[in-house]
Amino acid sequence: MTTPFSYDINPARIVFGPGTLARVGDEIKRLGASRALILSTPFQQADAQALARQLGPLSAGVFAEAAMHTPVAVTARAMAAFDAAGADCVVALGGGSTIGLGKAIAYRNDAPQVVVATTYAGSEVTPILGQTEDGVKTTVRDPKILPEVVIYDPDLTLGLPVAMSVTSGLNAMAHALEAVYARDRNPVASLMAVEGVRALQGALPVIVADPRNAAARSDALYGSWLCGTVLGTVGMALHHKLCHTLGGSFDLPHAETHAIVLPHSAAYNAQAAAAELRPLTALFGGDIGGGLYDFARSLGAPLALKDLGLQESQLDQAADLTVKNPYWNPRPIARDAVRALLQRAWEGTRPQSS
Ligand code: NAD
Repeated sequence: MTTPFSYDINPARIVFGPGTLARVGDEIKRLGASRALILSTPFQQADAQALARQLGPLSAGVFAEAAMHTPVAVTARAMAAFDAAGADCVVALGGGSTIGLGKAIAYRNDAPQVVVATTYAGSEVTPILGQTEDGVKTTVRDPKILPEVVIYDPDLTLGLPVAMSVTSGLNAMAHALEAVYARDRNPVASLMAVEGVRALQGALPVIVADPRNAAARSDALYGSWLCGTVLGTVGMALHHKLCHTLGGSFDLPHAETHAIVLPHSAAYNAQAAAAELRPLTALFGGDIGGGLYDFARSLGAPLALKDLGLQESQLDQAADLTVKNPYWNPRPIARDAVRALLQRAWEGTRPQSS
């Protein structure tokens, strides 16, 4: 029986395919804009400059200071650059950090956004912005934050380092895992989630063996679009709460933390959400936690939180913070069970679904 649901679709335009970077100018004009401030991290500055040359008079300049977790001080400098350049829209070229900066600008001045997404994190298709001030990360959700246009050009991901491709891909899968058992799940989001995981599961091993494989890069970006879309559509649960806690309070890196925690959070919910997880469990050999762990290990992903610099003595505090103001979760969030999960994730031991 189809259970009752409500379904909202986010109004974003998606342009997907090799060579679509060439269409940024057309998309700017389609939005009725004519002067784009181009955003990037310092690392991708050369790509941003090349895009500025490609855009000619449609470019209002490059701001290449995007940083992880969207510090509000960087946003303030970007807003000043936006105004000084007489810009009327932003083009974010990069991963979640750069996209976060574009969203932070749009949240403040409602500038239209074109995003050229170059990782698998999924931020480009969500109306969610996380920003940090004085070391505190807060999250806001607002329709203004959702980028109007997303360009997915797999050519730009050919050089995404293998290690980042793997952790970013597992980060995307985590959105899909939590989408199928979300309290506000719906059949369309669940279909997208399963298809997204299937695409990434097929693509990531090929990328590890052959990072410039165009077909696999296309499939991985397609999967990450689907996984990101469900992140923006339905609510997330224990896995995302754990990762936000570990990233926000212990400064652990975003994608790596998701990659390590995912098998353990999946195992935690395996029984409570067995019916919802069934299509994904089947993809991972009948054991979602163990199967994901084996998959991550086969890709050379990091497996232990201790390898990210987390101290064993911090696990109690991490458990306390996770159970404080918990997200809804299919299996009740019990402090002892969360502490045990964290211990296994810290050690990097293969999870047992319970
Ligand atoms: P990132 O954007 O921080 O990128 C990491 C590094 O890789 C950067 O130096 C970047 O310039 C570089 N890079 C990106 N794409 C590249 C490519 N194709 N080739 C070579 N180098 C490349 O990493 P991320 O994991 O995409 O984003 C993480 C951030 O995004 C976190 O702050 C996280 O909180 C946020 N995020 C937000 C949402 C949301 O919905 N609000 C969703 C997912 C992630």
